[in-house]
Amino acid sequence: MYHVMLVPTLNCPSNCSYCWGSKDNAGVMDIKIIKEVMEWLRSYREDPVHITFHGGEPLLAGYDFYKKALPMLKEGLGDREAGFSLQSNLWLLTDELAQLLRDYGVAVSSSLDGPKDINELQRGKGYFDKTMKGYDVARRNNLPVNFICTFTSYSKDLVDKIFNYFLECGYNLKLHPALPSLRGDNSDPWALSPEDYGKLLIELLDMYMDHMDEIEITDFDHFCKSYFIRKGTVCVLADCLGDTLAVDFAGNIYPCYRFTEMPEYVMGNVRDNPSVEDLQQSEAWKVIQSFMDLVDENCKKCRFIKMCRGGCPYNALKADGGYIKNVDPQCTAYKMIFEDISKRATKEMMANMMPSNPSLKKEKKGGIMSLMIK
Ligand code: SF4
Ligand code: SF4
Repeated sequence: MYHVMLVPTLNCPSNCSYCWGSKDNAGVMDIKIIKEVMEWLRSYREDPVHITFHGGEPLLAGYDFYKKALPMLKEGLGDREAGFSLQSNLWLLTDELAQLLRDYGVAVSSSLDGPKDINELQRGKGYFDKTMKGYDVARRNNLPVNFICTFTSYSKDLVDKIFNYFLECGYNLKLHPALPSLRGDNSDPWALSPEDYGKLLIELLDMYMDHMDEIEITDFDHFCKSYFIRKGTVCVLADCLGDTLAVDFAGNIYPCYRFTEMPEYVMGNVRDNPSVEDLQQSEAWKVIQSFMDLVDENCKKCRFIKMCRGGCPYNALKADGGYIKNVDPQCTAYKMIFEDISKRATKEMMANMMPSNPSLKKEKKGGIMSLMIK
């Protein structure tokens, strides 16, 4: 399966302090680009494809856009297995849009950084109420929504409060560390250092282990599964090149949505129906390929190489001024969480083998192994 992110626009009505993904007065995708996307995907690869509408704010494209785009993609791709998701702040969600997304099985996620006061500080005044209003629209139309929670240099110290908020509300979540961007420095003061991100992951895993039957934190499911099968199950823990692509409002193709509208990372355009081989000729492909080559050498002695693959090439590019000189600086965090999972798994195995040993207390609920095989 490969993943294509469609970015109908980089415009966004919210003004989150650490956001690097939006742009004022950006172009908006015309439906003719979706037709070209569909024609390109029909010949690009034969395996299943997952399509995510991302932004900016993708709902700015409007109801009429999705009313045409979803059937065009679903039916146009014929027998090809295709799934859909959408990442939105939900401010523009209407009943008719919610019903349309529900009818096409679109998996919706939204961003929420915890209780209202934390959102007001990190995402701006009014964000929380507008997103909750959209969430109510989704709920009354039976459209499930998952939340992505961004942890920053500020909110990392409020982890108990944030975790308990999601737990009490019954919301599942996905974690997102605030990270520096190639586009500008506004996110720098909010960014989490690798050590802080590693500590946060360990702290949250501890809380998750006590509440596994009440909440789902998908990151840990992925970290554990990747550790167990010795292969990354999300892009940052795998070789993302070619398996993740993004398309902007004008049909330009990039290695990932994080590069959207950066001309130096354009790999081709959907109107030209590029093949995998065509995209491989682009400079952007070669840059990411050089990251993978560097990982093979740099990480060859790391016991987590198969389930980490050097992390995210975008983070590596950002850290070295747009050049590939090292792996993802979050290496420290990945090592910390994989070490922690490894220790927990060993302890659990020993406890199962020696149930009478009081120093090897069994986990009350499921344990790390249950996440590995989830
Ligand atoms: S560049 Fe980073 S965020 Fe983008 S697909 Fe690759 S690993 Fe994922
Ligand atoms: S944990 Fe660090 S050294 Fe190990 S594979 Fe990942 S990036 Fe490389």
